[in-house]
Amino acid sequence: MSTLSIADALAYRGQLAALSDSAELDTALLLCYCLGKPRSYLYSWPERALTAEEQAQFQALFARRAAGEPIAHILGYRDFWSLSLAVSPASLIPRPDTECLVERALEIIRDQIRPQILDLGTGTGAIALALASERSDADVLGLDCVADAVALAKANSTALSLRNVRFQQSNWFAALDAKRYQLIVSNPPYIDADDPHLREGDLRFEPRSALVAADGGMADLKHIIQFAPEYLHADGVLLLEHGFQQASAVRQVFSERGFSGVETRCDYGGNERISWGVWRHE
Ligand code: GLN
Repeated sequence: MSTLSIADALAYRGQLAALSDSAELDTALLLCYCLGKPRSYLYSWPERALTAEEQAQFQALFARRAAGEPIAHILGYRDFWSLSLAVSPASLIPRPDTECLVERALEIIRDQIRPQILDLGTGTGAIALALASERSDADVLGLDCVADAVALAKANSTALSLRNVRFQQSNWFAALDAKRYQLIVSNPPYIDADDPHLREGDLRFEPRSALVAADGGMADLKHIIQFAPEYLHADGVLLLEHGFQQASAVRQVFSERGFSGVETRCDYGGNERISWGVWRHE
């Protein structure tokens, strides 16, 4: 086995070209992981030879990535907002697009003191943890129907030492008591079961329960919009992530349920990605 330098190892990225649109970053992150060094190190010491152990580990991890496994599953973490979150096959890998939901949520609660926030289908806890980290006065509850996801979210909150967030197992609102919230957020499953994207890239390795919903992907969005008013304070807001072609359908469901101020905002890719409505009790 010939000895690889850091530059040789980085050149492996060519093998990921067809699979990943972040081949260079993926390769660098795997190498950083094996060397226990930051990215800057790779570019400062390109001629440094890998030890036999580093090389064996790098090649094993690289082979997993080349076979399609998500980089976040191989590394065991994904950065989201300002946080590094543990991830696992039990839940969705947090997406940058969902950071735009966090941004909007922070705008909505900006002038509120000690807001009560509910996150439905929390997965890794990404949204709940980002909001709790930004607003130490907020009280955040994250729910997920998958026990392993709840355990993962709890482990993330412990690792981040966040004390203003709790996680609990619940199928949407089922396990909740009568308490009301100023803000309910969710990134529910919203992909149609026949969507060909499910057979591509990282999605193949993520749980279908976090991705796919009945009724053309609308079933869980509709369920949440239907029942959220029972858990919202007057002038409380429901804020949802949805598919890029679902915005007008989601706005219609919000309006038919009696929400006002219904609006949509695009994600960083310019796709209509989040919509919200205000619940004004009569
Ligand atoms: N935005 C994700 C994707 O298209 C789907 C997330 C979801 O279903 N909530 O890959």
